[in-house]
Amino acid sequence: MGRVRIKGPQKDRKSGYYNLDLETMPKSERLMYQNKLLADFISHAYQYSTAIKKRFDKYNINPKDISSLTDLQRLPTFNRHNLRELQKNCLPFGGLLATNIHEIDKIFVSPGPIYDPEGKISDYWHGLKALYTMGFRRGDLVQNCFSYHLGPGGSMLEKSLLGLGCKVIPMGPGNRELQVRVMRDLSVIGYTGNPSFFIEILDTIEAMNLKIPGEINLEIAYLAGEILDNNQRHDAEFRYGIMIRQAYGTGDAGFIAYECGFGNGMHVDERVILEIIDPETEKPLPPGQKGEVVVTVMRKQYPLIRMNLGDIGIWNDEPCGCGRTSPRLMQIFGRSDQSVRVKGIFLHPWELDEMARKIPELGHYQLVITKEGNIDKLIFRAEWKEKTPEKQKSALIKLENYIKEDLRLKAKVELVSGDFFLKKYKVIDDRRETIEK
Ligand SMILES: [Zn+2]
Repeated sequence: MGRVRIKGPQKDRKSGYYNLDLETMPKSERLMYQNKLLADFISHAYQYSTAIKKRFDKYNINPKDISSLTDLQRLPTFNRHNLRELQKNCLPFGGLLATNIHEIDKIFVSPGPIYDPEGKISDYWHGLKALYTMGFRRGDLVQNCFSYHLGPGGSMLEKSLLGLGCKVIPMGPGNRELQVRVMRDLSVIGYTGNPSFFIEILDTIEAMNLKIPGEINLEIAYLAGEILDNNQRHDAEFRYGIMIRQAYGTGDAGFIAYECGFGNGMHVDERVILEIIDPETEKPLPPGQKGEVVVTVMRKQYPLIRMNLGDIGIWNDEPCGCGRTSPRLMQIFGRSDQSVRVKGIFLHPWELDEMARKIPELGHYQLVITKEGNIDKLIFRAEWKEKTPEKQKSALIKLENYIKEDLRLKAKVELVSGDFFLKKYKVIDDRRETIEK
C-alpha cells in the first residue's frame, strides 16, 4: 500500500530557542523590557479601546502613569462576567477591540456567550514561540483534534502551527478509527487536542493492533483543555515514547505559558504579565502560594488588562534548567468557582481525587467542612476496604498523614461503611454558613 512518507530523521525537540535574546535575558533586563512594553501597550489601549478608556477613567488612573506592574495594580481586576456585561451593552466585543474591525478574521462564540475575536496577524494567539518551546518544529505534520467550531481551540492551534511552518490536518475531535487511520497513512508526527481524546486514540491504536513506533509514528502531543492526568502522561511517554507537552491559555487570552524541554512548569510568555493574587485583597502572592490567575495580555488588537481567569494556580521564579529566565506557572488546580477556601488555602475536589489515587485501600471518600467559632473544622469520611480492626486503626493514621502531606490540612478521619456513599454526595461538602472564596 503506497502511503505518504513525509517523515524524516527525528528532530531535536528539547533544545534550542525561538528567540534566544528574549528568552534568556537576565531578570532585571526582562523587567525593563516588560515595563517598556507595558507603557506602550497601555497608551495604545487607552487611545483606541473605548472600554479600556472608560475603565481607567472610572478609577481615575492616567495611562501615562503606568510604567510598571506595581502601577498597574491600582486598577482592580476584571473577569469574564464583566466581559460578558460589556459585550451585552456593546456588541460584539464590548468596546475592547483596539483595532479596526477589518483587522479581524473570525469571531468565535465561547460559553456565555462571549464573542472572541481572532486578528489577522499570524501570531495573534502568541502561539509560535509556545509551540516551538514545547517541541514542535517546522515541517512537522500535525493532526489537530481541537474543535473547529464555536470556540477558538481548533483555529488557535491551526493558525499558530501554520505560522511556525508545520503542516496541519484539520481533524477536530471524534471519529477515533478514522483518526488512527489518518495517523498511520500519513505518518503523522504531532497531535494537538484534549488529553481524554488522546487516551481514547491510544486505546484505539491498541485495539487495532498497531505498533507505536512502527505503524504509528507520533513523536509529540500537545494536550490542553482539561487537567492532564500525570499517570496517563507518564504512561504515554514511557510506553510509547511520545513526548507529551502542555500549555496554559484561554480563548480570549491565547497562549499564556508553556512547557520547555524540561517539562517542569510552564514558562510565561514575555508579552504576558502573570499575577497570582489573593482573591480577597487582590494583592499578588509570592512564589509557591496558591491563588487566582490574573493576566495582562499585551496584545494591541484586543487588550486584556488584569483579567482574572478564574483558575487557581501557583508560580515559581527560580531559574529553569533550559536557560529561560521567565517565571513559570507550576500548576493549575482547577476553577476557583469549584474550589473552597479552607484555613486560608484553596482546595479543589481534583486534589482529593489525586491523593486518593495513591491509596489503593481507600474506597469512597468525602471531606466535610464546618465552622466552630472562627475556626474551620474538617472531617474526612472514608470507606476503607480492609475490614479487620487493626487495619482499620492503622487506616486512621495513614489517612491523617496523607491529608497533612498532600493537602496541607488537618482533618479528623472517620471510617464509614460503603452504604453511606450510596446516595448522592459531594466530594467536598462545605457546611459553613458563609463560604469564603
Ligand atoms: Zn525551562
